Amino acid sequence: MQTTLVNNHVSAYLDEIYDSVVKRDPNEVEFHQAVAAFLQSILPLLEKEPHYIEKGILKQIVEPERVITFRVTWVDDNGETQVNRGYRVQFNSAIGPFKGGLRFHPTVNQSIVKFLGFEQTFKNALTGQPIGGGKGGSDFDPKGKSDMEIMRFCQSYMTELAKHIGPDVDIPAGDIGVGAREIGYMFGQYKRIRGAYEAGVLTGKGQEYGGSLARKEATGYGTIYFLNEMLKDNKIPLNRSTVIVSGSGNVSIYAMEKAIEFGAKVVACSDSSGYIYNEKGIDIETVKQIKEIEKGRIQDYLKKYPETTYKEDCSGIWSVPCDVALPCATQNELDEESAKQLVKNGVKAVAEGANMPSTPEAIEVFLKNNILFGPAKATNAGGVAVSQLEMAQNSMRLKWSFEEVDEKLQEIMKNIYKNCRSSVDEFYNATNLIQGANIASFKKVADAMIAQGVI
Ligand code: GLU
Repeated sequence: MQTTLVNNHVSAYLDEIYDSVVKRDPNEVEFHQAVAAFLQSILPLLEKEPHYIEKGILKQIVEPERVITFRVTWVDDNGETQVNRGYRVQFNSAIGPFKGGLRFHPTVNQSIVKFLGFEQTFKNALTGQPIGGGKGGSDFDPKGKSDMEIMRFCQSYMTELAKHIGPDVDIPAGDIGVGAREIGYMFGQYKRIRGAYEAGVLTGKGQEYGGSLARKEATGYGTIYFLNEMLKDNKIPLNRSTVIVSGSGNVSIYAMEKAIEFGAKVVACSDSSGYIYNEKGIDIETVKQIKEIEKGRIQDYLKKYPETTYKEDCSGIWSVPCDVALPCATQNELDEESAKQLVKNGVKAVAEGANMPSTPEAIEVFLKNNILFGPAKATNAGGVAVSQLEMAQNSMRLKWSFEEVDEKLQEIMKNIYKNCRSSVDEFYNATNLIQGANIASFKKVADAMIAQGVI
């Protein structure tokens, strides 16, 4: 990059902002990582449009509007009292009410929820819909809990959360460990507390009570719609590509399903215990059966397809030769070594289905080697986009068909790709879709913040 006086000046200012974030919360490493990557990538915009700095937008945008932490007490099946910590980070409401998922996983802490809320703010802006950014969850581990324990936990969690949310205030949804069952229990408790049927307060609801068709499929399908645009633009055929997908949760399953529908061959997927590899292709219906119905482990795939390779090392999946790699499990699952391995094996494109799954060092490897790279906040925005379509249907008190929602989702993903691309073309020094996504979304949020004054 050409170094100019302006550039140095802007860089120094961004360093100052970053240092202040670290100083405020020195232990929040994932949040620091998200902020650092973001600030770095919007440098080309700030050089051209320094008024964002002059108006103090950067200082404001890295600080959540509100962070709520609370005790969640519940009684387990043995009659023992259990205590977890609940979170909701209301990050930014410049363009709409806070919107973002809830994650129930033992690794959840303030750093994780803040990084997710920060990313969500810009992801939501990219969808072109009027939704701000938020995220929440708890360090509760749903693994091995009975259905009644899950229900009691969800009710207790919602008893506090209900004070802070509403269809025009903050609309949570699912994320890791939170699916239709948990949303159902939380919706029931919210309704009981409010004494009103406010369907639009949560998204990812069941079909019987206000859920949208295609919401379950949306993040995975959206990832493939985005990938398809990116590949088309670079004359790479998806239908002749070999694909690997980490994870086997909601995002992975529907990314695999759509990739296969496009004619690609998916040869590997994983869970937190290990990965499966079959060069003839993975049978998605069997994965669905194991993960969605039996709630089993990916290793169970070998019961039906014993010739499949299983290795007890989930990051080993990145050593499987492929044209396209889709990290769809969790943050920082793809590191520098794995990226180098993928490049060595001839990977052509990477699209992130999970939130921040590639480490900064891995991203550097991809960019240096000119690998096409779809960043999470653009690639996986389909989930929240259909959540917003669910809110729209709830407000209108009607329900669209699967095809109607899917068509809208495709349109949204195409537009996200176009917007990221045009920011790359338009701006001096912006050379990749990470910069494109961050510049396009930052502009939208920042302009709304400026319009609303210092609040
Ligand atoms: N948790 C999802 C995400 O990371 C979806 C959020 C939502 O639907 O509000 O975008």
